[in-house]
Amino acid sequence: MKRQPLRVGFDLDGVLLYNPARIVRPIIVFLKKYLLKRDLDKFYYPKNRLEKIFWFILHKSSLWPSPGIKELVKLVKQKKINAYVVSARYELLEKDFTRWINIIDPNKDFSGYFYNNKNDQPYLFKEKMIKKLKLDIYVEDNWDIVYYLKLKMKNEKLKIFWIYNILDQYIKHQYKFSSLKEVVKKL
Ligand SMILES: [Mg+2]
Repeated sequence: MKRQPLRVGFDLDGVLLYNPARIVRPIIVFLKKYLLKRDLDKFYYPKNRLEKIFWFILHKSSLWPSPGIKELVKLVKQKKINAYVVSARYELLEKDFTRWINIIDPNKDFSGYFYNNKNDQPYLFKEKMIKKLKLDIYVEDNWDIVYYLKLKMKNEKLKIFWIYNILDQYIKHQYKFSSLKEVVKKL
């Protein structure tokens, strides 16, 4: 019997899209603390140019497709995997979501694209979609979500591939990768 292609789900931000904030986050955390202290204003709004740049990086920080996307699309074209985008982005980011999908997968080789149009909690949305799509693998960068899915879905066949960042690199997990490129090599 011919083996069915693996059903693989991908998070968007931080997985299919490269997110520089993953690296500069410690700097931002520091800056935010410093700025908040100075302003004594919880609802801080960026004032000068530098502050605006940091704010942009923090809030709209997926700036380009991750290295490894081309290799991933190749796997899909070769029918080695069925790929799904499952992003917990809220409804208000729909336009940006569609724009990125067109950049990542211009020929629509992926099997489906899903974002969080009912504005559920991100981890609940992902759990629901993983079950619905009967995914074999889900690729995620956020450790909190990986941890939740690991606990909630430990009786399912699901494998969670985790793309870690420098700060989380000492956390133990069975399927742990430094980048999308490494994930694609494993698929
Ligand atoms: Mg993410």
